[in-house]
Amino acid sequence: MSTHPYFTEFDACRICPRKCGVNRNQGRRGTCGLDARLAVASIVRHRGEEPPVSGPNGIANVFFMHCNLQCAYCQNFQISSTTCSTDGFIFTVEQACDEIARLLDSGCGAVGFVSPSHYIPYVKVIVSEIRHRGYNVPFVYNTNAYDLVEQIRDLEEYIDVWLPDFKYAQTDLGRKLSRVPDYPQVALSALKEMYRQKGNTLIINEHGYAESGIIIRHLVLPGHIDNSLQVLDTIAWELSTGIHISLMSQYNPAFYQGEEISLKRPLNFHEYSEVVEKFHELGFYRGWIQDMDSFGHYNPDFEQEHPFETTK
Ligand code: SF4
Repeated sequence: MSTHPYFTEFDACRICPRKCGVNRNQGRRGTCGLDARLAVASIVRHRGEEPPVSGPNGIANVFFMHCNLQCAYCQNFQISSTTCSTDGFIFTVEQACDEIARLLDSGCGAVGFVSPSHYIPYVKVIVSEIRHRGYNVPFVYNTNAYDLVEQIRDLEEYIDVWLPDFKYAQTDLGRKLSRVPDYPQVALSALKEMYRQKGNTLIINEHGYAESGIIIRHLVLPGHIDNSLQVLDTIAWELSTGIHISLMSQYNPAFYQGEEISLKRPLNFHEYSEVVEKFHELGFYRGWIQDMDSFGHYNPDFEQEHPFETTK
């Protein structure tokens, strides 16, 4: 394996639905804001994911720099925004794998890729290298779901657990809050491919980590309960009520960059209850429903060496 792999996919990058066509190998940057280098914010043990994802000893999470979606309320804005002033740490594949291996050696039982959609070629070589080094651990793809279905298909042999969001069932909301014209259609196609690969079953290994399956996350946004109800309807009708859902209440208005009044306040109990009620009404029975007091507890600080430690 070469130290600096050359990915022809970056010559005219179309690896995510933005399809910018820029030459990242020549240093050009598309909407995601990254050239061809492996730019990483942090590789850390993380205990704050869903219980079988974090497992008993945490997951070795690779937080990639920047993002292909650019949500106006992103809690990881320090590393995800194209306007942030840093590209983080530029790693070779070997250095990234060394860091991951160090965490695995110290007890982490899985590897997670966070916001990986603009780094898919790197995800493949990292998975191959970690496996080549003799580690037999699950690999988790933690995505905003703005992914091309063909990329999800190609990742089948690399990814064990899909951890996608389903943010919007309303096209206009995706356009307004994440600057994409087609979030619901694109995300649903990606989710259907993940579901084709994994179905409803979430398999937990003997170490307490999910080793195969799909968990769909949905963050409930204040003032947009209709969107959340439609998200649940869509999953129920287009996928299955047997799928694992992670409903999240942790929206934090402090990160919102915009003018909409309802997004400048936290979610309230009444709004969240309506969504939880719908979850049960539709017949969902697997997954996790975050407590309402989660607000303010899930705010990483990527300027710290251990971004999550002060918030848990
Ligand atoms: S990965 Fe980045 S450069 Fe490539 S198509 Fe997506 S947003 Fe554009």
